[in-house]
Amino acid sequence: MVTALLFALCAVAPLALAPAHLAAAPQHAAVTKAHHLLIYSIDVEGGQSTLLVAPSGASLLVDTGWPDHNGRDAERIQAAMRDAGVTKINYLLITHYHTDHVGGVPNLIARVPIGEFLDHGPNREDSASTRAGYEAYLKAIAGKPHRVVHPGDTIPIPGLNVIVLAADGKHISAIPGIQPKPNPYCATERQWPTDPSENARSAGILVTYGKFRFLDLGDLTGAKEVALVCPNNPIPPIDLYLVTHHGMDLSNSHAIVDAIHPLVAIMNNGAHKAGKPAAWQTVHDSPGLQALYMLHTAEDSDAAHNSPEAFIANPKGDGDGHYFKVVALSNGGFSVTNTRTGKTTEYARK
Ligand SMILES: [Zn+2]
Repeated sequence: MVTALLFALCAVAPLALAPAHLAAAPQHAAVTKAHHLLIYSIDVEGGQSTLLVAPSGASLLVDTGWPDHNGRDAERIQAAMRDAGVTKINYLLITHYHTDHVGGVPNLIARVPIGEFLDHGPNREDSASTRAGYEAYLKAIAGKPHRVVHPGDTIPIPGLNVIVLAADGKHISAIPGIQPKPNPYCATERQWPTDPSENARSAGILVTYGKFRFLDLGDLTGAKEVALVCPNNPIPPIDLYLVTHHGMDLSNSHAIVDAIHPLVAIMNNGAHKAGKPAAWQTVHDSPGLQALYMLHTAEDSDAAHNSPEAFIANPKGDGDGHYFKVVALSNGGFSVTNTRTGKTTEYARK
């Protein structure tokens, strides 16, 4: 069913390559609106940049990767945009002001039109690098449309439901229309330290497209994860989980990872950034998980805590920026393509 649908949807674009019996399809098929949500987990070498393109063509970019490197991360974002057929970012959500998330903003602004900038409000971390990153961000977006998002706010992308679950250290207790459930994993959860850094203030979102759900909590750390889902968990089962904090072991508590029942997870780690054994194991062991993709081999970890190479976009070193492309349908089915191998795997919740 999913295969047939995906084929039918993808077949409209490369009409010239289609078999003869399809070449006679009506011309308007080529301009028919898409019926899928695209999600790109872009390789920004251990930072975050995630592009979502709704069926309407509207786009949301979550974070921008690093500064410098001759605009490397902006170029990689543009490559994903080209693949998706978009020339503009409607909304840019900055989860928090660490360099690996906000650092790429000046480079991106120089290359790509951006409709509105969303963030959790002022930087509250007293460190030189984060203050500098925040100042560079404010300078870059001066005079441009900007909105501070709060837990419970929505990002109005036609066809999608995007709700902010956490921001600036606060969180929602319930999502409209969804009854929070007692979380059985809270009782055995350990105490997590209070985190004074920007990570704990990450803006996190739940994206719903029909029956498909995607969760991106930025770099939210353990104590805030547990506060979000204990004692009652407001988050419904998740189809695609962007592993929080690149797979750092300061995040990815059992209380959240086990409770959200991710079907597939993507870890946006670098070759030598995050991808920690404890976080990898927690995600790997979460009930019902079918696949754990990684943007890089975690080279400081070991073979027992890395996924098989077919599930890794860049197996060796910094790599060439291979990314994962997800095509999600409103019936909840979705596929993940490793752009290094070209292999696409389909998933659906039973
Ligand atoms: Zn980060």
